[in-house]
Amino acid sequence: MTTSPFSNPQFQLAVVGGGQLGKMLVAEARRMDISVHILDPSADAPAQFGAQSFTQGSFLDFDTVVAFGRQASAVTIELEAVNVDALEQLEKEGIPVYPESRVLRLLQNKPSQKDTFQKAGIPTSAYESFPSVQALHQARESGKWPLPFVWKIAMGGYDGFGVTIVKTEEQAQQLPVGPCLVEECVSIALEVAVQVARHPNGTVAVYPVCDMEFHPTANQVEFVLAPTVLSSALALEAQSLALRTLEALDMHGLLSVELFYTTDGNLLVNEVAPRPHNSGHWTLEGAATSQFEQLLRLCADLPLGSTELLHPAAMANVVGAEGYSGPVFYEGVQELMAMPLVYLHVYGKSHTRSFRKMGHLTALGATRAEARSRAEAARDAIRVVTSPKF
Ligand code: ADP
Repeated sequence: MTTSPFSNPQFQLAVVGGGQLGKMLVAEARRMDISVHILDPSADAPAQFGAQSFTQGSFLDFDTVVAFGRQASAVTIELEAVNVDALEQLEKEGIPVYPESRVLRLLQNKPSQKDTFQKAGIPTSAYESFPSVQALHQARESGKWPLPFVWKIAMGGYDGFGVTIVKTEEQAQQLPVGPCLVEECVSIALEVAVQVARHPNGTVAVYPVCDMEFHPTANQVEFVLAPTVLSSALALEAQSLALRTLEALDMHGLLSVELFYTTDGNLLVNEVAPRPHNSGHWTLEGAATSQFEQLLRLCADLPLGSTELLHPAAMANVVGAEGYSGPVFYEGVQELMAMPLVYLHVYGKSHTRSFRKMGHLTALGATRAEARSRAEAARDAIRVVTSPKF
């Protein structure tokens, strides 16, 4: 390669979406002086600071996305709910998009995501898709899908919204009317995730497996821990399933693969996200190359970086305290910042609400247990509330 993307006005990366994922991508880009441009509808989008330019506009609008991406050397996304036709148009004009618009279109739809797993022989929970909730009720009247089962909205769900574990007939009767995916309710021993990346030149990188612990009521990840507690044989199997999923999708870019380890000892792929993901934030301090740098590298045609685990790491989400809604104020900051080996990331959202993701922190340790207890203490020290003066 004769040119470099560093300090080079000829290389411009367009990022559709300007939330915290975009912000962390921009931070890595600034470190290497790679030009990044952000598109987001919100005037206080966290990713705008440090970006070469910020366009305030809708990522769902065809013309806005095409005009935004047209000037770029490459385009990537930080959320799935964008105008895919616009990304396809940019590809037709010769601009590489990571992940490809075809992949994004497929993954936006949960039933087609599951169909892809099934066709490729990738183990996943038993499922059936329905065009409407009425069709589901009819199937249930004929004896299919007895309680409990898992209902998922076909398109547009996020962070557990759009997923219901249906345990009672009353819950079944209250399901939303639209298209849905129904899954067998799996008995889960552990939820894990694996980040994988594929460069346009075909090389792949796979991260160490991490474990996810969920908040009992908020249906949100509370801790992400690396290394995994799975045996090395199972961890290898999870990594190989993640790579097979990447290959089945035939995509280039970053893919976060979430898996269930079931109580009867099987690994099942649950769902994937073709972008940086909350479950990969630990890589910023815990791995040789962060998920954000990895995405930059493949977008800018630089070799993929090492995914080696440098230190046991525990990531905790910093979410809005329950019952507070309004301009944000962080309590307990003095205590948290005095803790060793705790790295705080504040996303820069001006308003908090109950359980809103406002930041995260990663703690390192000599062992995973040490990292986890540090992360828990730090998470307990900080409280995201609204300022008394507001
Ligand atoms: P989202 O896209 O909202 O994150 P997920 O598919 O990851 O949705 O589901 C959210 C959570 O619901 C999972 O982390 C898991 O705890 C639970 N869940 C999802 N599918 C199943 C299933 N088939 N069986 C049991 N629990 C499930």
